[in-house]
Amino acid sequence: MTQVADTVADLRLLLAAIAPHTGVVHLGDDAHRLGLVPTMGALHDGHLSLVRRARDECRVVVVSVFVNPLQFAPDEDLARYPRDLTRDVALLDGLADVVFAPDAATFTPPERRTTVSVAGLTATLEGASRPGHFDGVTTIVAKLLNVVAPDRVYFGEKDFQQLAVVRCMAADLDVPAAVVGCPIVRDADGLALSSRNAYLTAAQRHDALALSRALREVADTWDGDATSARRRLRRRLDGAPGVRVDYAEVVDPETLAPLEGVGAGPAQALVAAVVGTTRLIDNTRLEPAVRA
Ligand code: AMP
Repeated sequence: MTQVADTVADLRLLLAAIAPHTGVVHLGDDAHRLGLVPTMGALHDGHLSLVRRARDECRVVVVSVFVNPLQFAPDEDLARYPRDLTRDVALLDGLADVVFAPDAATFTPPERRTTVSVAGLTATLEGASRPGHFDGVTTIVAKLLNVVAPDRVYFGEKDFQQLAVVRCMAADLDVPAAVVGCPIVRDADGLALSSRNAYLTAAQRHDALALSRALREVADTWDGDATSARRRLRRRLDGAPGVRVDYAEVVDPETLAPLEGVGAGPAQALVAAVVGTTRLIDNTRLEPAVRA
């Protein structure tokens, strides 16, 4: 049965009882691995794919459910972000050992003074459109890593820049957990699963398909030329009804620096757009087609 902890003290007690031999001291030892999957709840199959991967690879799996106020700007959707802990815990039953669901007032008290901030990687894309967003993410992820002390922490490639930023933080701070990136889970029609899809009307959901379609088209026709891929991506999205483009970029997957012209290495195409009042992001790897 999945157990729920809503304070750091409760979580530590629970982990001491069910996972006394897990955690970073046993790094690399399969039989004792502790896995952490950080989420903001309103779970869908994308989240669950991370939890299943953790279940396959770890003896004890902790899923955090925390709508992190630090990563929302004042004009964003913190208040209306979907929350249903009972449903989340039911979905995790049999998959996760522990759900850590702290409340915001105690996990992010007003008197806290410390911010964990990754420079450079956070200046563009989501970081440019959402100033302070990644500081909120890395501050809370650092806290979660400290309270859970996992061997492995799982993130989705859906939030591609977030994954890069967390990898960088983990390397810079000598975090002893391995950061595991997991592929994007999509609906059958290609729309990337997101808790924010719940905001979309049927018509907006249809319009939102432009993002994954534009990315797929650019991936299918990728010839190594980042400049022309970016132009086509942008043109496709600009012409899509009901879609207001924030950015459409082709970058180096490691550094996230914009690519120009023809290069030999892999590339990543990333888009952000507003559909109705909902801001959506998606991305895909661009690599040469493998010919038989
Ligand atoms: P969130 O609850 O939106 O903060 O997401 C929690 C984790 O789930 C993050 O690491 C996300 O990248 C990941 N995630 C969200 N949606 C998807 C998806 N469609 N496919 C794979 N991972 C996802």
